[in-house]
Amino acid sequence: MAENNEQPLDLRTRAVMAGRAEGENSLAPVLYPSSVFTYDSVEEGQKLATSLAPERFYTRYGNPTINAFEEAVADLEGAEAARAFSSGMGAMSTVVLGLCSSGDHIVAQRQIYAGTQLLLQSVCPRMGIDVTFVDGTAEGAFADAVIPGKTMLVIAETPANPRLDLVDLEALGALSGPMTVVDSTFATPLGQNPLAFGVDLVLHSATKGIAGHNDATIGVVAGSQELLAWLWSFAVLHGGNASPFDALNALRGLRTLGVRLDQQAATALHLAQFLESNPGACEVRYPGLDSHPQRALAQRQMNSNGSLLTFDLVGGSAAGRKFVEATKIAWQATSLGGPETLVTHPASTTHVSLTPEELALSGIGPGTVRVSCGLEQVNDLQADFAQALAATEA
Ligand SMILES: *Cc1c(COP(=O)(O)O)cnc(C)c1O
Repeated sequence: MAENNEQPLDLRTRAVMAGRAEGENSLAPVLYPSSVFTYDSVEEGQKLATSLAPERFYTRYGNPTINAFEEAVADLEGAEAARAFSSGMGAMSTVVLGLCSSGDHIVAQRQIYAGTQLLLQSVCPRMGIDVTFVDGTAEGAFADAVIPGKTMLVIAETPANPRLDLVDLEALGALSGPMTVVDSTFATPLGQNPLAFGVDLVLHSATKGIAGHNDATIGVVAGSQELLAWLWSFAVLHGGNASPFDALNALRGLRTLGVRLDQQAATALHLAQFLESNPGACEVRYPGLDSHPQRALAQRQMNSNGSLLTFDLVGGSAAGRKFVEATKIAWQATSLGGPETLVTHPASTTHVSLTPEELALSGIGPGTVRVSCGLEQVNDLQADFAQALAATEA
């Protein structure tokens, strides 16, 4: 890759340039579906079997297509190294189980992806790992919960499921003692770079905005060479490596993330403002709105306010259910970051198993709707939301 010594390249430029192997003249990423690679001598085989993350040995250890995607993410996150996994949860479970042992303690944010919460709540205790949940938006909450000598890992997610709460990355990066990991899925590598704030590891469900087309299930973690070597050693036994085909789609998606994210963020701001002015909706949450309680923090640490917004319908549960069924352009589905606008009613779908108290703690009201803005024309989406709002009042 050509270096530009005059000025650092913009992340959007790097997203197009990164993850290209020396001497590879295929402009598009190359798919290596092979699970295995040959070697010519016993000596070479021995070298591959005992080296760290060999690229051409056995795909669970490494693979040129997967490596290209990993290198691209490492470049965008300003990391020494990255490792891709079979999903975002594959990445998170590897970080948790690869770094923590029986007797260790984890501090995690309460506002977090439901899969991560279940992993911490149900699997960790079984492994003898204690977890303390804190309010990630409260100043000093992570630091206060750290037990010196015992807390191995601090887990944050920002912007967080489902209400787009933010965690102060600078404060998180300043924690001394435990390792810190940020689930940055909602932001994407173009929306914020937690490592620049001193955080140790950044994690993405690349299933979402990075791959960006709902055609790959893949996760990725980036950080120092040393931490990634440790994670690799566990991951090769854990077996949660990414599929080369998903890595291909994720790298292809990364090339266009800049334009997609920019349009989705512009659409999200427009729809958020439209909803704020509508009497049927309240509590509109979007990091780009002046009314967001952490607007100043968003401006300090985010380069894009992202593609997601949430709001509450004043009509409560009945209105929430009606709204998501009434949209004609937006689809009902739980993912995010793709071309199609998606709407969910968490209280009756993704979070249906929670008690009313747990729902309230998670910031989910009976009429809460989450929106992942896609790439449809914004006026069409506004009209769709307007008619769906009218349907909730009918
Ligand atoms: C989807 C998601 C995950 C899990 O990713 P999968 O690829 O579905 O395993 C983790 N964190 C966040 C914030 C997510 O949105």
